Amino acid sequence: MAKSKICNRPGLVTITEEPKIYDALNYNDVKKCVKLNLSTDECYIKHGKIILAHFKVNDLFANKKLDLSQFFLRLEKEASKLNISLMQMSPREKIFEKIFTSEFKNMGNKYLKNLKIALLPRVTIIDGKNQIEINKILKKFHDNPITGGHTGITRTLSKVKKYYFWKGMTKHITKYVKACENCQISKITKHNKPPAIITPTPISAFEIVLVDTVGPLPKTENGNEYAVTIICDLSKYLITVPIPNKNAKTVAKAIIDSCILVYGPMKKFISDLGTEYTVRHKILITF
Ligand SMILES: [Zn+2]
Repeated sequence: MAKSKICNRPGLVTITEEPKIYDALNYNDVKKCVKLNLSTDECYIKHGKIILAHFKVNDLFANKKLDLSQFFLRLEKEASKLNISLMQMSPREKIFEKIFTSEFKNMGNKYLKNLKIALLPRVTIIDGKNQIEINKILKKFHDNPITGGHTGITRTLSKVKKYYFWKGMTKHITKYVKACENCQISKITKHNKPPAIITPTPISAFEIVLVDTVGPLPKTENGNEYAVTIICDLSKYLITVPIPNKNAKTVAKAIIDSCILVYGPMKKFISDLGTEYTVRHKILITF
């Protein structure tokens, strides 16, 4: 249905079509609406936990693609039987693993007539007093070596914000990161590291190389959990070598096999002075 909107300027009237599927800016506005659950098999219209209606959608798939025009026709029919004109839907519904929300919106705007769907914000709202849930989230986004990685306040906050919101989250996260023992220890270690040495610009490739170790990363099938990155300071050419651990011997072997034996010995070698580079290992001395 077209809605006319009168502008402030006299004589100017703009016609704007309100979208049938729109992003709900505030969860509270739509939280009491009926819910739309859509998987690749079935569609449910629910009020709380009560199923008001459901219909199969697996027959609407052709070449693994859901026929959205047919789907919206069926949905509108069910909604009109129930006298429903607005539904809420989470952007985390299973169907969005198969189709883009933008495509869903475009087709909905085209085929829906009287029914509107409010897409909820991507973030989950958490009760600010639910300390157990908050701690669980912070453990995941700060402590966990893969999903957290003990990042600072700003980075931890921006990661959590992508998925959750609760009142006072900035304060909570600041306090949590500041109190994290692991972060305190690594801060002290970082400050005690000798300063990096500034070197002049190299003339030829692989004359000066910058070496670093990254990880731990998710373990690969071959049992590798770390990687050595070797960058030629002149060309910025990058060599990445997967390694199972970051012992000095393993790292030295990776550098010899993948860099020195291929591009020749470097004149200068720059590292972040991690222990794997400062341990005077036989291999590094004798190559
Ligand atoms: Zn930490």
